Amino acid sequence: MSTTAATLTLTLVLTLTLVLTLTLIPRIPTTLIQPRPSQLSRRRRFVLFGIPRRDTSSSSLPTTYVVLVMGDDVPVPAPASGGVSSEGGGGGVERAVKRARLLESSSSPTFHVTKSCLSNHSCPYLDMVDRKSLNFDFAKFCSVTLSPQNVYCCLTCGKFFTGKSTSSPAYTHSVSTSHYVFMALDKKLLGRVFVLPDNYEVVDRSLDDIRAALNPTYTPQAVASLDAKTAWARALDGADYLPGLVGLNNLAMAAGGASATQQRKANQKAPGSTDYLNVIAQLLVRAQPLRDYFLLQREADAVHASAPSAQAADTQNRVLLVQRFSELCRKAWHPTAFKGHVSPHEFLQAVQHASNRAFNADEQGDPQAFLAWLLDAMHLGLTAGKRKKASVITRCFQGELDVRDASAGESAEDASKAAEAAAAATTTTKFLMLGLDLPDTPLHLDAKSGATIIPQVPLSTLLQKYNGSTVHESLRSGSKTYRITKLPRYLVLNIKRFLKNNFFFEKNRTLVTFPLEIDLRDILPLSHLSADEPTRYRLVANVCHDGEPSGGTYKVHILRPSDEKWYEVHDLRVSEVMHQMVGLSEAYVQLWERL
Ligand SMILES: [Zn+2]
Repeated sequence: MSTTAATLTLTLVLTLTLVLTLTLIPRIPTTLIQPRPSQLSRRRRFVLFGIPRRDTSSSSLPTTYVVLVMGDDVPVPAPASGGVSSEGGGGGVERAVKRARLLESSSSPTFHVTKSCLSNHSCPYLDMVDRKSLNFDFAKFCSVTLSPQNVYCCLTCGKFFTGKSTSSPAYTHSVSTSHYVFMALDKKLLGRVFVLPDNYEVVDRSLDDIRAALNPTYTPQAVASLDAKTAWARALDGADYLPGLVGLNNLAMAAGGASATQQRKANQKAPGSTDYLNVIAQLLVRAQPLRDYFLLQREADAVHASAPSAQAADTQNRVLLVQRFSELCRKAWHPTAFKGHVSPHEFLQAVQHASNRAFNADEQGDPQAFLAWLLDAMHLGLTAGKRKKASVITRCFQGELDVRDASAGESAEDASKAAEAAAAATTTTKFLMLGLDLPDTPLHLDAKSGATIIPQVPLSTLLQKYNGSTVHESLRSGSKTYRITKLPRYLVLNIKRFLKNNFFFEKNRTLVTFPLEIDLRDILPLSHLSADEPTRYRLVANVCHDGEPSGGTYKVHILRPSDEKWYEVHDLRVSEVMHQMVGLSEAYVQLWERL
């Protein structure tokens, strides 16, 4: 009995639906665009249906457009009669989509493309995509014309070509090699995929991983959980890597052929190396607010506000430097990378441009000088050249010092006058880095064993330079005392190891001993700071030098917060080290994080 009732109800509902549909059909205007197949696109035809919803009761519903890409074997539905128009002419699906967008904008509903119609199944060429051949670290220049404009990447062989008109190298490449799928690398079309020579766009979620490798982006949630992840990731090329702690290519070695070596020998110069750039890039991103800022691409607003087009060339170069640093940062943290390392080509290029080649790949630079320059250049890039404005750089690294002329007040008659004179001779300066001087103790041989004894000095002794009473003599600035009045969130220390002038280049090999956590109140008289001001710091990055003053190498020790382990990074090589090893290195630049 109940079964009969259910069947009856179902039949009734079905009949009603059919009647309703039949009544509604003539009122749905459908656009059918069928481009005339050109000679090259004969194997494919494009059909676009626009079905705007006109139902008044559901006016809030978006208009639905369905884009169908069909093969020759699929019959094209014949235009139905009544309210249906058809349109011929070349131009392919792009024009059809444009027209659909026009229709959409005229009635202002949302535009939807039914993606299932554009799956792997409907675009047979997506099988040609070879992810292992793709490398987006290189400068985005056409491999034929060297033009940086309208560049597309062939997703089959990974080469870059200008596209995509019929006279372009990308078009020629598609015809001559039968590589059909191209991804746009230009800012305007970034990540959109086109099939050449047919020239239609492919919308397919299965290509999202390539888009992410080209331009990794992060959600605030993803960034917040970064430091909780301890697992290694496996790149598509099979390499295991730690997101955020990836090896960086040494670009001088990669580029240096036999001729370059001969040239260097002729010049009697130190061999080129970009290890100085790699260690600083690794060190800087340990400052978590700085890292998060770039992972979330917050620089885009700052850079946009500075309107680079209206600025001088040096500001434009600094803006580009900031963008390249952001890209490097986002690639280094990418959890599903195609390869387990990053080549900082574009960052190096931006550095060379912005520094007028003061820092380059042909000559090993000084990491301390590079860091000082980079912080300044990126700060100016983020503040449109306004040095006094705050930026993420100053928020992370800037502290303040009282600098007093030590000779002032010495000849004063009484204490109060001396204090007055001292106050008058005191200036407050901001700092991003503190320099520490090593005592000039030569290496000596142990009388009994004949072994070389390397002198040692505790870091706390070196920091006494900033206690406000130690007089620091220098030829350039005279005798001064320094007192820290504002501690930065991240303290950068530079242990001045190298002595370089026109005649010689020497290294002081004195070992600096330090615990991995320090409280500056135990080391310096900081009673002028408020009692609740945090003064405890832990070491998070330690750049050290190995070997001879010229021709040696720079490495960096990194504390990974997620597993509290130390890693040594030497260009491409990332290996875990015991924390005791960090203190045994010839430390040069250190980054301390306030706890
Ligand atoms: Zn190709």
